[in-house]
Amino acid sequence: MLYGALEAGGTKMVCAIGDETGRILEQMSVPTTTPEETMPPIIDYFKGKEIRALGIACFGPVDLNQESETYGHILETPKLPWKGYDIVGVMKEALSIPIGFDTDVNGSMLGEVTWGAAKGLQNALYITIGTGVGGGIYSNGKLLHGMLHPELGHMRLVPAKNDSYKGKCPFHGTCLEGLAAGPAIEDRWGAPARELVGRDEVWEMESDYIAQALANLILTLSPQKIILGGGVMHQEQLFPLIRKKVLENLNGYLKTKELDDIDHYIVPAGLHDDQGIMGAVKLAMNAEEVV
Ligand code: ADP
Ligand code: ZN
Repeated sequence: MLYGALEAGGTKMVCAIGDETGRILEQMSVPTTTPEETMPPIIDYFKGKEIRALGIACFGPVDLNQESETYGHILETPKLPWKGYDIVGVMKEALSIPIGFDTDVNGSMLGEVTWGAAKGLQNALYITIGTGVGGGIYSNGKLLHGMLHPELGHMRLVPAKNDSYKGKCPFHGTCLEGLAAGPAIEDRWGAPARELVGRDEVWEMESDYIAQALANLILTLSPQKIILGGGVMHQEQLFPLIRKKVLENLNGYLKTKELDDIDHYIVPAGLHDDQGIMGAVKLAMNAEEVV
């Protein structure tokens, strides 16, 4: 059985055909410019493929409320040509098949919980630390949506005493994204994150902020596994630092078997950067079941 998957990102749109085991059979990508330019080749790609449903994991903010008049639309975004764009409506009209829809990070969470590092768990957390910081939450066996959808990248953190950086977020300055996303690292240290390998102070500070946020999230959501993805997390030296500092932040308050085995609790993505597109396959499978 074949399913279509669209990982709609701010810089590129990845289109793929997958099967019910999550295997990706083929894929292609198109740069994200304007809907007029970007969408026609995507529609052409999926037309004529024998797909039963399409899953879209989309950059946000998006309207996920199926009761809403603007369900499936992209909402207020700095990517102005996409503001108000009815991505679900356009694909449904073009393909006449069931469409599953969620945020990009919930897509990655779903991929990981279905086929990856959180397989079989009922509660898990996926966080990407890249151009921004975003999180997908799986809670009691479901992706969490809520009022809009969680925006955990914007939680406020306590800046380190030796960090005079004012923070990159235009809304909050020193929120998690403002302190720890790739552009903040580059701004604070004067070079792209990937060129700062070997500068221990960079990764000490980075892991401090990520650990502070994770401790807050552990206390709030009680996830059974935390998966960290995105460009910045390619710096694998961050993992042991983050694990140690999460335990320091919790300061012995929680005693669980997961925290006792923290090397298997806070982990990289199990699907090696395919979690988003595989999650979109699962969104398609879920949409088909509903119909
Ligand atoms: P996006 O968030 O746009 O989907 P990425 O997850 O690749 O894309 O994140 C891009 C950000 O991650 C950039 O700020 C870049 O500096 C940073 N980044 C990419 N690769 C690495 C790397 N190997 N090490 C550290 N930072 C990286
Ligand atoms: Zn913010």
